Amino acid sequence: MIRTRFAPSPTGYLHIGGVRTALYSWLYAKRFGGEFTLRIEDTDLERSSEESVNAILEGMSWLGLDYDQGPIYQTHRFERYKEVIQQLFEKGLAYYCYATPEELDVMREGQKARGEKPRYDGRYRDFTGTPPEGVKPVIRFKNPIDGDVEIDDMVKGKVVINNRELDDLIIARSDGTPTYNLTVVVDDWDMGMTHVIRGDDHLNNTPRQINLYQALGAPVPKFAHIPMVLGEDGSRLSKRHGAVSVLQYKEQGFLPEGLLNYLVRLGWSHGDQEIFSMDELASLFNLESVNGSPSSFDTAKLLWINEQHIKKAPADHLARHLSPFMADLGCDLAQGPALSDVANLLRDRAKTLVEMAQGATYFYKDFSEFDADAAKKHLRGVAAEPLEKLAELFVNIENWQAAEIHAAINAAAEALEVGMGKVGMPLRVAITGGGQSPAIDATAELIGKDRCLARIQMALD
Ligand code: GLU
Repeated sequence: MIRTRFAPSPTGYLHIGGVRTALYSWLYAKRFGGEFTLRIEDTDLERSSEESVNAILEGMSWLGLDYDQGPIYQTHRFERYKEVIQQLFEKGLAYYCYATPEELDVMREGQKARGEKPRYDGRYRDFTGTPPEGVKPVIRFKNPIDGDVEIDDMVKGKVVINNRELDDLIIARSDGTPTYNLTVVVDDWDMGMTHVIRGDDHLNNTPRQINLYQALGAPVPKFAHIPMVLGEDGSRLSKRHGAVSVLQYKEQGFLPEGLLNYLVRLGWSHGDQEIFSMDELASLFNLESVNGSPSSFDTAKLLWINEQHIKKAPADHLARHLSPFMADLGCDLAQGPALSDVANLLRDRAKTLVEMAQGATYFYKDFSEFDADAAKKHLRGVAAEPLEKLAELFVNIENWQAAEIHAAINAAAEALEVGMGKVGMPLRVAITGGGQSPAIDATAELIGKDRCLARIQMALD
């Protein structure tokens, strides 16, 4: 069975570049009926925080990227890492290194002065003497000295590294805590990962990890290293380019499937199709069509994709995601129509849920003023007659439906011998407070009869 994972370090917010990695791993598992694991790589005790773990869990849950296993916390697995380090000692493949940081600085300076690449020179690799006093050793892995390591990367192609370029990796710090390169191998092995899909900033670590798998007699998974996401200026996407945390996109009113559709296309393609449902992605995604070179984040395109998803999302789903924005604007959803009906009416007019919510407040909340420009144009001095006529006709509508409302607007225009607009626009400003809304009959239907009549009265006063 295919097994993939997303393995974030909880040292900050959940970056959207990381979300794309999670998405590719998730989709790959879905595509092949496999399993997806969420693993929290929290062994760096100083930099990890609970807040950041929560941001990851909240982000994954909002995105709908569910996991079959997890969240698994590496800090719960320290005993297992110790056991594996012990195995390496027993095989003669691990050793204590007593070099102090100062000593290593001197070593590197000397290498640089000789024009060499700074690397650990293996000085404690075969050490058998008495350990120096007062130094807490790190533990290093005995990397093979000869031969090549070959990665057959599913995105990058074949990458070959000579072992002479790799020095002896630290697998446990001097405080005894295991390091990333060890824990990731132990976990991917124990958790049966068949495919490791991650950012290409880890490509350098991969040959070292492959050596560790081999030292442990563990099967080596397949690797797929995906290029970084860049900002519009071509540098690696970071805070100075704008929002990078997934929860910021949530707050800005993106639908999870809109953001995910945008992110999947940032590096993967299927012909020239732009809009995909999650089900479609789960049946189409593959790693062969992932582009090996980086892509730049394009906010205008993200907005466009989100807009397309807003247009076609099921109404209850749209309403569920819209609802918190309505609450933020002080709307009590019990005081108006079903939010899914409102969302259906407004879905063709919004790029984000924030925009949609702003255009939906008048269904739930009365206003005390009309938009000044709209009132000047469509209410003052021109609206008394049409609004009075409408009020008279509206009162008698028993079945408060768009068709009846439409007929009443028509009848008012005919009675007053004016065009529909001369009746419809004052009505629009009166019942919505402004000059813009979806079709006025459908809008009036959802606002409700009593509320419409009261607002017409307010406009007449
Ligand atoms: N914890 C690593 C990170 O957040 C990911 C490791 C991996 O995917 O192998 O960068």
